[in-house]
Amino acid sequence: MNRLAGKVAIVTGAGRGIGAAIARAFVAEGAAVALAELDGETARTTAREIAQQYGDAAKALALQADVTQSASMHAAVKETERVFGPVDVLVNNAGINVFVDPLTMTDDDWRRCFAVDLDGVWNGCRAVLPGMVARGAGSIVNIASTHAFQIIPGCFPYPVAKHGVIGLTRALGVEYAAKNVRVNAIAPGYIETQLTREWWDAYPDPQAARAHTLALSPMKRIGRPEEVAMTAVFLASDEAPFINASCITIDGGRTALYHD
Ligand code: NDP
Repeated sequence: MNRLAGKVAIVTGAGRGIGAAIARAFVAEGAAVALAELDGETARTTAREIAQQYGDAAKALALQADVTQSASMHAAVKETERVFGPVDVLVNNAGINVFVDPLTMTDDDWRRCFAVDLDGVWNGCRAVLPGMVARGAGSIVNIASTHAFQIIPGCFPYPVAKHGVIGLTRALGVEYAAKNVRVNAIAPGYIETQLTREWWDAYPDPQAARAHTLALSPMKRIGRPEEVAMTAVFLASDEAPFINASCITIDGGRTALYHD
């Protein structure tokens, strides 16, 4: 359980869901982790739980940070470096669902989607890249979505931003490859978190919506946050030195299915 021993990582949106699972898995693998979260209290609670689970040696730092604000991400990196040292790994996980009809969408809907789901990823990258490039080492993992490849009607403009996350991953991965900074993405399918539950709850019959999701899944189940976290550990670790500008899909085969 030392695949990330000695590494310093920042995980955004780590207060709950997939981000919390990634932070927990990173600590379990020996990393010192900053949980950068919009809600500082959620970050503190999750960091405390992780510390209780893994004991006094566990390094979990709670930070209030807003990924939509470049200055906030720079401050989060500065504080992480002050407490733990240079940042080796960044997981840009924070994201929100904005699912609206394109023609009735407000300018604000568009802006808040892109502010978190795409600008947020760039703000994180921009804050860590100078240090990683200077040190000649680093791994950035961006949490995209299967919405980056497949379109579900009624989910606009979220997939537009997630397509952008893949573009950003590929562009930065190539840009900094020679500096030994790897930039990769993970595209989760349906994963059991508050985000997904809120999506089902928005349907008139949430149970039926959930059952429909399950029926379309080749494995007939929803993914678990820990299943995304395992891949984030792999991409962040030295086990993936030649994986760059790439994306790993974690969806139980859902996007490979045409129909049954
Ligand atoms: P959750 O809503 O459960 O968690 C998202 C976290 O991000 C929350 O803790 C939230 O904090 C935080 N966050 C939101 N906005 C900001 C911000 N501006 N700055 C910092 N933190 C912020 O979502 P999931 O865990 O399900 O999703 C995590 C990522 O995975 C997202 O990028 C999502 O798009 C992606 N994804 C999820 C899938 C799923 O099925 N669950 C499928 C595909 C992709 P707060 O509560 O304070 O708002």
